Amino acid sequence: MTSETRLFIEPEDLLGVEFTCGHCGARLLYQLPKYPVRIAHTCPNCNEAFYGAEKRTNFEDFFALLTAMPKLTEGSKLKIRLQVKVSALEEKRA
Ligand SMILES: [Zn+2]
Repeated sequence: MTSETRLFIEPEDLLGVEFTCGHCGARLLYQLPKYPVRIAHTCPNCNEAFYGAEKRTNFEDFFALLTAMPKLTEGSKLKIRLQVKVSALEEKRA
């Protein structure tokens, strides 16, 4: 007999996106499903660049997808869940 632990989250379970500055450790939390008014490209604490200007569109697309996901299945019987690696959660608790 084998057993498998699988962990899924629903788009509505996503509460936010956290940026952590690799330079000073400051954290910036964007609460979902609200699309951020302005996505920081530099750390508000030390002014270190989070990402290059060439990735700005990628970050905008990322937040657009995250904020749209809970609405994707409105009016349909489709259910979307995101699978999370269980071992990743255990590592984060340590
Ligand atoms: Zn910083």
